[in-house]
Parts: sequence; structure tokens; C-alpha cells
Amino acid sequence: MKLLLCLECSDMFNLDLKMQKCSCGKTKGQYIDNLYAIYEGASAMPIGISNPSLKEAISNQPDEGLGKEFTAFIIPRNCPTFFRRG
Ligand SMILES: [Zn+2]
Repeated sequence: MKLLLCLECSDMFNLDLKMQKCSCGKTKGQYIDNLYAIYEGASAMPIGISNPSLKEAISNQPDEGLGKEFTAFIIPRNCPTFFRRG
């Protein structure tokens, strides 16, 4: 799962086939198909969430105590499926 974090306003949002924007408007992005996505903005930070890891955490949601962790990561500057435009 691909998300964008705006380092300016701290909004974090997932992408859609329609262009999505943060609340300050400096970060935007969209999927261009099932795999490829683009983003724009000097404050845009691309973030990935491991889908299997998230699924596993959802299935094992604790009733109390500490939350169940899952894997999220900063996507590299040069990523063939999620790239900066402009
Ligand atoms: Zn913003």
C-alpha cells in the first residue's frame, strides 16, 4: 500500500486513481494503474505499508495492552513503481 506524508502539514493519506491532496496542498499524488503511482511536491514523503504485515496485524488485534505492530517503510527516492513528477 502506497501512502504520502506531507512534511509541511503532517497529513498522511493513501492514494487513489483520482489525484489526492494534503490539506495544505503542497503534496499530491495518485495511482496511474494497479501498480504505478506518481507524486508531486517538495514536502512529499512516499511511504509504503507491507500489505501482508498489515493483514496479519489486523487478524491479531490485541484485546488490550500494546498494539500489534506492522511494517511501514520510507520508499526510496528512486523507486520504479512510485516516482516523483515535477
Ligand atoms: Zn501538506
